Amino acid sequence: MKKYDVIIIGGGHNGLVCASYLAKRKYKILILEKNSEVGGLANCANFANSFSKKIISDLNIDIPQLNQNSYIVSLNPDTNHTIIEESQNGIIFHNSSATKENQEKFKILLNKYKKFSSSLSQFMNQTPPRIKSGVFQDTLKLMKMGWNVRKLGKKNMREFLRVIGLNIADELEDNLSDDILRGILSHEAVLGTNLGPRSPGSVLTLLYKQAINNGLVFDSEKYNINDYISSLEKICIDSGVEIRKNISVNKIKIIENRVSGVELDHNEIINANIIVSNADPKKTYLELLGPEPLDTDFIRRTKNFRSKGNVAKLTLLLNEKPIVNNIDKEKANARYIFAPNINYVEKSFNSSKYNNFSENLCFEFHILDKQLKLNLYYIPYIKNSTHDKEKIIQQCQNILKKFIGNLNITNAELLTPNDISNKYNVSGGHWNHGEFEIDQMLMMRPFYGSAQYQTPIKNLYLCSAGTHPGGGITGINGQNAAKKIIEDQR
Ligand SMILES: Cc1cc2nc3c(=O)[nH]c(=O)nc-3n(C[C@H](O)[C@H](O)[C@H](O)COP(=O)(O)OP(=O)(O)OC[C@H]3O[C@@H](n4cnc5c(N)ncnc54)[C@H](O)[C@@H]3O)c2cc1C
Repeated sequence: MKKYDVIIIGGGHNGLVCASYLAKRKYKILILEKNSEVGGLANCANFANSFSKKIISDLNIDIPQLNQNSYIVSLNPDTNHTIIEESQNGIIFHNSSATKENQEKFKILLNKYKKFSSSLSQFMNQTPPRIKSGVFQDTLKLMKMGWNVRKLGKKNMREFLRVIGLNIADELEDNLSDDILRGILSHEAVLGTNLGPRSPGSVLTLLYKQAINNGLVFDSEKYNINDYISSLEKICIDSGVEIRKNISVNKIKIIENRVSGVELDHNEIINANIIVSNADPKKTYLELLGPEPLDTDFIRRTKNFRSKGNVAKLTLLLNEKPIVNNIDKEKANARYIFAPNINYVEKSFNSSKYNNFSENLCFEFHILDKQLKLNLYYIPYIKNSTHDKEKIIQQCQNILKKFIGNLNITNAELLTPNDISNKYNVSGGHWNHGEFEIDQMLMMRPFYGSAQYQTPIKNLYLCSAGTHPGGGITGINGQNAAKKIIEDQR
């Protein structure tokens, strides 16, 4: 029977990145992917926009950055849309109904967040420290975290500590008086999370996003997602990684608290010394491993890991390229956001708490030739039930028609979080494999006892978005997990 050094369960982008780093160290690696294509949830994204520059350089990923202007258009019901552009030099307003004073305040607010997020960014590419381990390295990392915040200076440190627990709505209402500008930042803070603008901690999610994204809020640098995934797949194959598709792992096999291999359909077993799970933490522990080898407290923590998804993917095929009213042709290649004010977004979130979707659909979309690709929220994952898809599509269409005169839909495909969960075997169909709140971040992600890519089982590791630093197409989880494995095997 063939034996591997490492089996990676799942060929999501983090699984591919993890394999690429391990392959550099000559491990014999097998990736087992449930679907007919690798990439996992990244296939739901419109662009790869937050991929780590370090990984691109480490792995020699050679794909062109898309030659597009990075406009963000916030759709305004009165069609006087806000058009902004973001780069490392800051924000430029190309059009806005907001006063100059509000535009300036918006820039000041983002600069403040940029400064705060820089104190977190250094920790994104590292294994988070263990709390109370007594190991010098962990204590040093914790001290560095504290020092980074202290370095902000007394005034900024106090402000940082004040805002991290706040909800974004309060912050925005204190600083801006323009609805559309408040809406844009509410959107960025809550997209992909199970938070509304009035949920505590929604400022922190925004800071975290900036920390991962070199201080940028709007994910402006874009790569084609297919180019990106194929390039990662090719790097794996060229370095000797075997990839088997259309194969689901049913069980992780262990002997005396150490992994021995995986079980597939028809009781087929493949052996390996190390297993890395690109599936989310809940699926990994409760289904693939099963609760038997885990202690009760650990199982409780796993079950408590919150992972109710609420973003759906809608792809609309149109009979001609859509034209958004009142947007110049040269700015049409934009990321469009519909989140017109805080209360609108919050009302939408409220319905999702009761497992419903609201008439107040919020969304973002890109135009790709004759297609509109939308991320719709809040469409909650619901147990033992389904949403009325036709109604969701119709509601979305009703809103879009106000902005796109030539909207003639020839086909609509909607993937709800339930569909996403089934297709990619992700708990709750969650964008980040698990909620993004202070108790599920950094050295508490996914939870205490499993936060350093390790698990209670020897040689079983996690590398998915459910680990630090969380979701999005960054590849950092895969990179950090590989580094941890290499370090442990020394
Ligand atoms: C609708 C939607 C839109 C998104 N848009 C964006 C975006 O625009 N920008 C952005 O940065 N992020 C976006 N995200 C989030 C981002 O795509 C994910 O956070 C990220 O791709 C997760 O990557 P991963 O490799 O950790 O996990 P996954 O992509 O979930 O990979 C896990 C892989 O494991 C496979 N698998 C699971 N169980 C098994 C098993 N038992 N056996 C074999 N294989 C298995 C799955 O099929 C999957 O391929 C979006 C997410 C969603 C849901």
